[in-house]
Amino acid sequence: MRNNLKTRVREELIDITRPVADAVAGSGVTEGAALVYCPHTTAGITVNEHADPSVAVDIVGWLKDACPHDRRWRHLEGNADAHVKATLVGSSVLLPVREGRLDLGTWQGVFFCEFDGPRSRHFDVQMLGSAT
Ligand code: ZN
Repeated sequence: MRNNLKTRVREELIDITRPVADAVAGSGVTEGAALVYCPHTTAGITVNEHADPSVAVDIVGWLKDACPHDRRWRHLEGNADAHVKATLVGSSVLLPVREGRLDLGTWQGVFFCEFDGPRSRHFDVQMLGSAT
């Protein structure tokens, strides 16, 4: 299932736990896994704490410090840092599905990671498993 979203700033983590959980619940798959995939080269997907929104802000801040936008890069499109950050975060996560629902830890949420926004983006939720 394809999901569209619009990012608002150049770099941000957007909590997509609800649309991912809804896609899982609506799929009919009761046991298996959900692959959440981002088909972009300057954005990614990760799992981390979503109870405290400052964690996502800290992750973006650390990545900005570790991988500065204004470093001398060879890639001349002006977004080399975004490509590196996307590689560090990764383009997908594979999540467990049990009893027909997304089985995340208590504090875990799924995030779409924008590193070259604002843009129109999308992510896919591909179910792996069977309905029982
Ligand atoms: Zn580029």
